[in-house]
Amino acid sequence: MNTLVAGLGQSGTAAAALLVRESRPFDTFDDRMRPDQAQSAVNGAAQDHFTDVSTLDWSRYDRVVVSPGLSIHHPLIVAAQAAEVPILSELELAFRHQKGTVVAVTGSNGKSTTVSLIDHLLRENGLKSRLCGNIGVAFARVVDEDPEAVYVVEVSSFQLEHVDRFRPRIGVLLNVAADHLDRHGTLARYRDTKLKLFARQLPDDLALISADLDVSVPGAARRESLPHANACMRDRKLYLADDWQADAGANPTLIGHNLTNALFACRVARELGVDGDGATRALTSFKGLVHRMERVGEHEGRIWINDSKATNVHAAQAAVDSMGQPYVLILGGSDKGGRFDGLNLAQNQPQYIVAYGETTNKICDDLAVYSPIREHDFDAACLRAHAVAEPGTAVLLAPACASFDQFPNFAARGDRFKELFHELTRTPPAGA
Ligand code: ADP
Repeated sequence: MNTLVAGLGQSGTAAAALLVRESRPFDTFDDRMRPDQAQSAVNGAAQDHFTDVSTLDWSRYDRVVVSPGLSIHHPLIVAAQAAEVPILSELELAFRHQKGTVVAVTGSNGKSTTVSLIDHLLRENGLKSRLCGNIGVAFARVVDEDPEAVYVVEVSSFQLEHVDRFRPRIGVLLNVAADHLDRHGTLARYRDTKLKLFARQLPDDLALISADLDVSVPGAARRESLPHANACMRDRKLYLADDWQADAGANPTLIGHNLTNALFACRVARELGVDGDGATRALTSFKGLVHRMERVGEHEGRIWINDSKATNVHAAQAAVDSMGQPYVLILGGSDKGGRFDGLNLAQNQPQYIVAYGETTNKICDDLAVYSPIREHDFDAACLRAHAVAEPGTAVLLAPACASFDQFPNFAARGDRFKELFHELTRTPPAGA
């Protein structure tokens, strides 16, 4: 069997490393890498490297493992389809070699938080958990490490584009919101891609799906919609059964949407044997993730909150809805083709909106009733937000856009936000 590994990012190199461990030959393809660069990415293990689709001899391959970075319109994928060579994602390849228990979490928002919560709940209760997938280390890197482990995998819809046998013991779909429509086309197609998570599940498996989603789920798993009457949240307590309840009240980060994430995480943990008291202890010691509603600090009575990871309207909405104090909202960034009129600010109106970056005009048009303040530059937008905020007000970065117009990624944007805050606090007050 000869495999072509296409796209040598994190998941492609992890797929290559798995093939090496399995002693299987492979070639590589990446149109942005010279052969020497490609070989160094896979420790010299590839037989051959290609940069031009037209030079590939498809009769040499019985499968191609594609990076989530390659869209279904990429010439490589189009050519593989024409040659009828099976296309696998790194997730699918890894799954074919796994021996442990797989918990897979997908959704538009909340994946990283939820997998981190699940991992923490399991570890703190004595189970072996391996956190992997989009959140950091690729599934293919670790999948064959430990047959006793629970692999808690963060799964993107890109990885689900090319699955076939992938079958998580527990699958979680947190939500589906307009995002990545530049890549997936329509919301219906995007949703159907996410539903592929469940397609191969069997009756012993569990499918946990947001009660907001009115969808028919493929596969044979037990389906449970959360929350429902017997699995719900009340006063920051999570109830999953008559004899199962956990308390999230001692953890200040578990509010709003994070409480929903915790409900899903607890349902997974309960399925794997964690009891309510053990869950309460783990929820109490869970530290929130950076760049997700991260409290940076307070200066001149203004609290800076970094939710740089809110890269779409749905996530920004969750941020706004969880604000329990007056706030100034910083929106903006690169343009993924979405609109901003879906952002409902009426219930919890910001004092001001500061719009910045590539999407400034769209934001100012769609949210014209709030008369957003315009700034092109990110730094200027943050400082302006601080300047217009009254004492006792939060400066909330929940930009509802990707960061790529001014930053390499959301983390760099969040780091810059924190840096600006610290620069500001070092500045002596006026007149000093
Ligand atoms: P993902 O890995 O899916 O991007 P994260 O946990 O990193 O999810 O959170 C991404 C953004 O979405 C953050 O800004 C966070 O505040 C927001 N968020 C987290 N959970 C939810 C949820 N259940 N519903 C809506 N927004 C959420």
